[in-house]
Amino acid sequence: MEQVRVRFAPSPTGNLHIGGARTALFNWLYARATQGKFVLRIEDTDQARSKKEFLDEILFSLKWLGLEWDEISFQGERFAQYREYAQRLLQEGRAYTERSAQNTEAIIFKVTPQKIKITDLIRGEITFDAQDIKDQVLIKSDGTPTYNFACVVDDATMKISHVIRGDDHISNTPKQVLLYQALGLPLPKFAHLPLILGTQGGRLSKRTGATAISEFRQRGYLPEALVNYLLLLGWSPGNNQEVIDIQEAITLFDITNANKTAATFDAEKLDWMNNQYLKNADPEKLTDEIIPSLIEKGYIMKDSFDRGYVLSIVKLFQGRLPTLRDFIDWADFFFVDAVTVDPKAQEKHLSHDLSKEFSLFIKKLEVLPEFDPARIETCFRDLLQELNIESRKLIHPIRVALTGKTVGPGLFEVIYYLGKERTKQRLSRWIERRDI
Ligand code: GLU
Repeated sequence: MEQVRVRFAPSPTGNLHIGGARTALFNWLYARATQGKFVLRIEDTDQARSKKEFLDEILFSLKWLGLEWDEISFQGERFAQYREYAQRLLQEGRAYTERSAQNTEAIIFKVTPQKIKITDLIRGEITFDAQDIKDQVLIKSDGTPTYNFACVVDDATMKISHVIRGDDHISNTPKQVLLYQALGLPLPKFAHLPLILGTQGGRLSKRTGATAISEFRQRGYLPEALVNYLLLLGWSPGNNQEVIDIQEAITLFDITNANKTAATFDAEKLDWMNNQYLKNADPEKLTDEIIPSLIEKGYIMKDSFDRGYVLSIVKLFQGRLPTLRDFIDWADFFFVDAVTVDPKAQEKHLSHDLSKEFSLFIKKLEVLPEFDPARIETCFRDLLQELNIESRKLIHPIRVALTGKTVGPGLFEVIYYLGKERTKQRLSRWIERRDI
């Protein structure tokens, strides 16, 4: 059987976005599933709009996602080859030249009216009418090749067996087929992935401000979670399974079982997926990732912080975080002296006098033989009995006083990691306030 060779062909005229990353993933996955090759082809023919910073971002993001390529090449290095192929079509009378006002020459392909049929591996048979296709510029008058032409020459010379790309390229496919035929080159198989729609409907595109992959990284998404999410935007392992390990996906994936219908980008689902991965991630690794942000925020000092403490707090939160970055906002109270109390939470839970309750709680904590979550809880339950009040009457006010928030990890663990002193200080603030 011929070797599968697929390619991902980004133009470095923008960052890598969700759509491109999904195309890259599906190509990579198909290559890995078939022991084929994954080629990265940088389509940098538009010299004015191609930028090094975009190229760097694309390469970095692909690596971050784990989509390593087997080969890489740049169209910008092959202008001579494209011209040679265009000359061939000129000589055979399949193309003609047109002079520009600056006296430079463009090479244009003559389109012959005909029906073009392709069998798409995902969409099935599609028929196009070349009647609707105008003559195609192959080499522009500035000497650069057009996308369709360079793409065909490259896909053919690089022996690409399967062209897997987004549905937005479907109108290019008949134009490319005509060029393959004119050049006498064998056609690759085509597979067009269904569109990804924005949450509000409509297309996700570079221009509508879709998020760059590097930004997802900065926002605290794990690459494995993002890859798993991208995978579901065009394929599913069946049995309603959603969290799927990439190695397992490789064993199950086939391009012919990709979804046929458009997918919708759902930020909430991505958060859910990220949480699934954060839950099971190695807390040591998460701690490493979080430390720079904590330093930047001034929550810990670069050369003198207690890593073990940060690790404990990471463990306390990792099961409930949508993204790593949320840790900074959610766990702030463990790292600052003065807690910022959410005004609404204060209004709801701390607007009445709790001096007696808080004072008694502090007294009980003071005399604990060991300060650990279980004993803290017992001491809290004893207090409830003594005061003859329901738990919620006290648990929320204490939480808000200690953390500034209404939600968070288990209160007794929060108290344990805050420590006796800080717990006392924070509760006292509300006692003193009443006295003023
Ligand atoms: N450079 C094109 C793009 O970024 C590649 C399209 C293709 O895969 O043929 O959309």
